[in-house]
Amino acid sequence: MSAHESPDEHDARIRDAFLLLADETRLDIIETLRHAENSPLSYGTLKNALAIRDSGRFNYHLDKLTGTFVSKTEDGYALSSSASALYQAVLSTRPIAEHPSPTFDIAEPCPECGASFEICYKYEWIVSHCPNCESQRFAYPFPAGAFAGRTDREALEAVIQRMYHHISLAQQGVCPYCSGTMTAEWLTDHDTAFPTAVLVRYTCLLCGMELHTSVAAMIKQHSPIVSLFDDYGIDLRETPPWEFRRYVPRDGVTVRSASPVRIEISVRIEGDVFTVFVDECMEISSIESEHTRKRSCESGTNGSVDQ
Ligand SMILES: [Zn+2]
Ligand SMILES: [Zn+2]
Repeated sequence: MSAHESPDEHDARIRDAFLLLADETRLDIIETLRHAENSPLSYGTLKNALAIRDSGRFNYHLDKLTGTFVSKTEDGYALSSSASALYQAVLSTRPIAEHPSPTFDIAEPCPECGASFEICYKYEWIVSHCPNCESQRFAYPFPAGAFAGRTDREALEAVIQRMYHHISLAQQGVCPYCSGTMTAEWLTDHDTAFPTAVLVRYTCLLCGMELHTSVAAMIKQHSPIVSLFDDYGIDLRETPPWEFRRYVPRDGVTVRSASPVRIEISVRIEGDVFTVFVDECMEISSIESEHTRKRSCESGTNGSVDQ
């Protein structure tokens, strides 16, 4: 939503965009331009390709699309990037003959209650949750057609890589879907089914896409954490979220201050304990090892930083 429009104006703009497409001739124009790929088509070529004799009708529909889904250039008419994105979305989520019913064999205890948590597929989302205490670990969209040519496990790995990639882009302020600007905000006192007490919400100012991540999943992406785990021979890029949670216990996330936000996260790797300090700007300000802290207490100094 742009800064100058009301929610009603915003909704009306979305409806208008969909209504623009609700016509066979306009869809034919878009389909023809799509097949031309990146080469613009002249007015005459486009009109001949569609075999429309009524110039008035053709002009009317072409005008309606020009400036939104169709761009008019010196070389002719071309599909705009928004129309291409729309096409990709429709293609990737189009109905398929046989709906997949994958089984994901993940044997991990729920960090909330100790029961086994499940990963299931419903409404084209891959969702991990605990059937015992009903806490949710992650949920991400995955179109049914994306199972083609993959085992269930490969599909799960694909969605997790995509999820991490999206979080990484969002952290850099880039919307994974439309490249619009993403803002980040803390949700420290929310009502949520996510197990970790602190969430970060990223919102795209252009397309409105929202991403939520726990603070623990957020720090997993940061380079000081990646290199800390590297020292133990653990490649975090290959570590799925349920395995990473073994290193960050639920009670390991502490909000030291709400304004400005100061969060401490306890990370345990192979018997070594680290405290990760996260600041208001969602950056890691320092990482302290238990060993360093003990040493600094003994020497009476203020604790050094391993980073
Ligand atoms: Zn549980
Ligand atoms: Zn966006």
